Amino acid sequence: MEQLDYDLIIVGGGAVGITLALQLQLQGYRIAIIESSALNYRLSDPERMIALSYGSKNHLQRIGAWSHLLDNHAGRIRHIDVFDSTEGSRIALHNHDLQTNNRSFADALGYVVDMSILNQELHTLAQKSGIQWFTQSRVLQVDTLATHIALQTDRNGVLQTMTTALVVGADGTHSAIRKMAGISTRGWDYNRFGLVCSVQVELGHFDVAYECFKSSGPLALLPMGDGRYSVVWAMEPREAAIIASLSPTLFLKKLNQALGMQVIEKTGRVMDVGARFCFPLELRIAKQFVAPRIALVGNAAHTIHPVAGQGMNLGLRDVEALANTLSVAHASQQNPGDATLLKTYADQRILDTLAVAGFTEAMVQGFSFEGALASQTRQWIMDRIHGSSSLKKLLIQHAAGVAQMSSQPHSMQS
Ligand SMILES: Cc1cc2nc3c(=O)[nH]c(=O)nc-3n(C[C@H](O)[C@H](O)[C@H](O)COP(=O)(O)OP(=O)(O)OC[C@H]3O[C@@H](n4cnc5c(N)ncnc54)[C@H](O)[C@@H]3O)c2cc1C
Repeated sequence: MEQLDYDLIIVGGGAVGITLALQLQLQGYRIAIIESSALNYRLSDPERMIALSYGSKNHLQRIGAWSHLLDNHAGRIRHIDVFDSTEGSRIALHNHDLQTNNRSFADALGYVVDMSILNQELHTLAQKSGIQWFTQSRVLQVDTLATHIALQTDRNGVLQTMTTALVVGADGTHSAIRKMAGISTRGWDYNRFGLVCSVQVELGHFDVAYECFKSSGPLALLPMGDGRYSVVWAMEPREAAIIASLSPTLFLKKLNQALGMQVIEKTGRVMDVGARFCFPLELRIAKQFVAPRIALVGNAAHTIHPVAGQGMNLGLRDVEALANTLSVAHASQQNPGDATLLKTYADQRILDTLAVAGFTEAMVQGFSFEGALASQTRQWIMDRIHGSSSLKKLLIQHAAGVAQMSSQPHSMQS
């Protein structure tokens, strides 16, 4: 049986796992990634678009992962309109309100990128940088010892033993590493699916993202780089299955009705739709983010409702925190699996995670209540926020991901 040793092993080669690998490799660690799939990237149809905050884009830029291709394809979110479609209340956020010393420092609050381009670019960079990949591999067993941790893996039927100081679980919502570490989760299924598709609108998007809250669930429009919108529409699973399989004409009719005149007045009617697909929506937060010689990042640590578009952004902030903690360890030749280091990482990440999950939950639940009192309360809250420049600035800072992490790339500072 082959035996291999690395400073760190990352299980899960999604965007969060690869970004961590790139950052740690730059710090001088010897890294391996174990990924269960064959990583056969191709531009997906239907497209899977994702909104990355200004802070996340800067993070990727700092480690050389924000490529020209990504930049050219990315849609810019320069304005966000939040609507309560039953009441007509509205909060409008603009990137020019995100200012320091009277200068706007963000060219956009967020960027809408194609997940397959992002993953492909990260993967190519990771291959060039000498990170060791084990694709089509699964971890069968984890043995935590005093000085290291041993993984038994199965790679296409070939059994291997791998040893390392620290295993990072970046293997998504149903993380096998989290389960092997004995870490349970809190949360629930929303009994909602997110229906996702790309659409063409009559007038164009003018860099505006829309969040429309309806009693059935939120409906978001994200401006894409080619002038179309990416739609994320939350609804009950049965309704999602029916709506996803409607003819394009009937689907467009439903979507135009759901958007309502508030949005259509600005974008024009939705004219054309690409392929549609559905994701189950769930909330799952790990009770601990670390165990002896194991740390969790990204969806393995927390899966939240996509309404606020924050899941990946949160995962990239995990990466930043863990990489910073391990950078100090590397400089002082401390073992990366040291329990005090892992505790530092977990302590740093819990507050941000609970704040984002709590805020997201408040949006999901707050707009689901029906009745006069609930709608009056919502209207009151939204009017207060819309009328308060300091509250709006706070929201803008969180949407842009600059409240939680250092966000100024060196090239943009002047
Ligand atoms: C409809 C929808 C819209 C969203 N929109 C946004 C948005 O606009 N903005 C935002 O910030 N977030 C958004 N999110 C959330 C975002 O997609 C996730 O938070 C993010 O993709 C998680 O990345 P990850 O790398 O942690 O996990 P994943 O992307 O799930 O990657 C996990 C990787 O681990 C691999 N793997 C799984 N099991 C194993 C195993 N046992 N062994 C080895 N490898 C394994 C998988 O193959 C995969 O490559 C959205 C989510 C949904 C559902």
